[in-house]
Amino acid sequence: MQTVIPLPPPSTIAVSSKTERYPVRRIWCVGRNYADHAREMGHDPNREPPFFFQKPADAVVENNSVLPFPVQTDNLHHEVELVVALGKGGQDIAVEHALDYVYGYAVGLDMTRRDLQNAAKKLQRPWEMGKGFDQSCPTSAIVPAAAIGHPSSGAIWLKVNGEVRQQSDLSQQIWRVEESISYLSKFVALEPGDLILNGTPSGVGPCVAGDRLEACIEGVGSLNIAYTTR
Ligand code: MN
Repeated sequence: MQTVIPLPPPSTIAVSSKTERYPVRRIWCVGRNYADHAREMGHDPNREPPFFFQKPADAVVENNSVLPFPVQTDNLHHEVELVVALGKGGQDIAVEHALDYVYGYAVGLDMTRRDLQNAAKKLQRPWEMGKGFDQSCPTSAIVPAAAIGHPSSGAIWLKVNGEVRQQSDLSQQIWRVEESISYLSKFVALEPGDLILNGTPSGVGPCVAGDRLEACIEGVGSLNIAYTTR
């Protein structure tokens, strides 16, 4: 294909024990999917249906990266999340078939410029500048569901400089993976290459330049990133 400017490079993620990589089409994120996190953000976890926002596909960052501290924020928050990588596309997917659409799972970080997100909330503006900024989605290698099955329980935790900040269990998700896929597929046609970050447990908090983040989901993998000192 002839293009008037160079085609952008594809956004991809490593796949564990394979040389082939996983191509990222879109990144969907579920808001408030653990009761304890919904409460810490001032919401009733029992009454709200899931809602979604996006990050750009090229926000993904490889495991073990050292990143510059993001611009335009004095309150960068970590949110550790289960990443669901779709292998098939579909619309109006039934909950009981939804896991058939999953290629694999990874550990991800929904890095958040909380100051910009809070300002957007107050002004009833969109969240993109708080959520969808450059390098806002570090992701570990994807582990195929064919190898590990579909994790519905298991520890999920995050440490900053070796200190535990977030610690929960996948069983505490309000909307299970198959429910998130089914619900989202009622609003958009899902496609292979779509990632869903299925929400974060409580304990979100700030990180600063020079911090080292380590995230882990039992049975899925671990993720390490660091921010350079200013
Ligand atoms: Mn999140």
